[in-house]
Amino acid sequence: DLDFFEQELGLLDVVGPKAREIIGQDCDIVSACEARPYPLVVDRARGSVIRDVDGREYLDLVAGIAVMNAGYSNPEIKAAISAQLEKMAHCGYGDFFAEPPLKLAKKLRELSGYSKVFYCNSGTEAVEAAIKLAFWKTKRQNLISFYNSFHGRTLGSLSLTCSKVRQKEHFPSIRTVHSHYAYCYRCPLKLEYPSCGIECAKEIENLIFRRELSQEDTAAVFIEPIQGEGGYIVPPPEFHKEVRRICTDNNILLVADEVQTGCFRTGPFFAMENFEVRADISCLAKALGGGLPMGAMLADSELMDWPSGVHSNTFGGNLLASAASLASLEFLEKENTENRVRKLGSSIRQRLREFQENFSCIGDVRGLGLMIGVEIIKPDKSIDPIRRDKILREAFKERILLLPCGDSVIRFSPPLVITDEEVDLGLEKFEKALKKAGN
Ligand code: PMP
Repeated sequence: DLDFFEQELGLLDVVGPKAREIIGQDCDIVSACEARPYPLVVDRARGSVIRDVDGREYLDLVAGIAVMNAGYSNPEIKAAISAQLEKMAHCGYGDFFAEPPLKLAKKLRELSGYSKVFYCNSGTEAVEAAIKLAFWKTKRQNLISFYNSFHGRTLGSLSLTCSKVRQKEHFPSIRTVHSHYAYCYRCPLKLEYPSCGIECAKEIENLIFRRELSQEDTAAVFIEPIQGEGGYIVPPPEFHKEVRRICTDNNILLVADEVQTGCFRTGPFFAMENFEVRADISCLAKALGGGLPMGAMLADSELMDWPSGVHSNTFGGNLLASAASLASLEFLEKENTENRVRKLGSSIRQRLREFQENFSCIGDVRGLGLMIGVEIIKPDKSIDPIRRDKILREAFKERILLLPCGDSVIRFSPPLVITDEEVDLGLEKFEKALKKAGN
């Protein structure tokens, strides 16, 4: 690892001695998600700022991948966790009763409008639960999801995931057919919005039901309101309405994977609210637990009418995670998050668009609320992942944390509590990184 950071990426001179020592150990004894992009050894954090083991501070513009919406070390979340820890950490909510998961369920009902919740611990488990509920309810066995999508890595959700070929290629799948998402910057159908008439959404009816699947065998369409790992892709306003219409007309369930977009990330509680669409089932995780592992699958009780025991787990509704989750949601509600996220998001996008004048490598700036993608291109508009990664490394040297997504995109998903001064600083440093990476 050390050699890689030092020789290949030229990054090691920005790392302190303690971090060096830790990275120098055999970190491979832990199987990691991807190759780690930065030699950062974290120690503690507050708000939007992470401090490493050598006391160096980094501004986190990705919030631990859209998790720390209420900020690191949020005092209200910490107090809720401590109070619960004094009593007990875990009870096995599937077998006994307890107040924290129930209180959280009431809060989720209020925020989401769904009357019932299934608790789990992660995004992939929430999606997995939704697949099982859709199969159970419809007695059908085929699924539809979208090219470029990401829904998780366990076997069911991996069948839906389409953005990472490497993760899929060795594993068997549930039968899933992929349809085109509305990626207007690079339209897969080579059409132009709005004259296209949202042809991509109609593909489900025009193509899939004619050639590949029958609607009578299809249980559900799984969709991200904004594609996350696939490149922070925001569809035009009519897209989700059209997919909703197709699901309703063909008697198929619509499942919104709000794992990355939910919990006020785009302004409203669910990103689907921006599109005035209500899914039959919605999945949450990431930011839901305020930093603790917490996932949820939500639907109305008429739909989620499976008897207890059809699906269950050990840690769902864990007391600490429930307490943290409730404190986080209450904090975000109280902070008037929706308005702030909308305003801050559009001002950041505006300023990133201004960078386009000086940096022709910025092909597209898009997003909703504080989920913002910057697509890096070559002069001929083709993708440029090498330059993208160079910009990211320069940003790291400037001590701002950003991450890639899609083929050639830089994502911004800061804590929703990021201050105006931090945004100014982050954008100033991002501009420096763009300069240093060359245009
Ligand atoms: N769905 C979406 C939309 C996601 O972005 C992710 C994680 N990036 C997942 C599901 C999987 O979540 P987890 O890593 O918690 O399993």
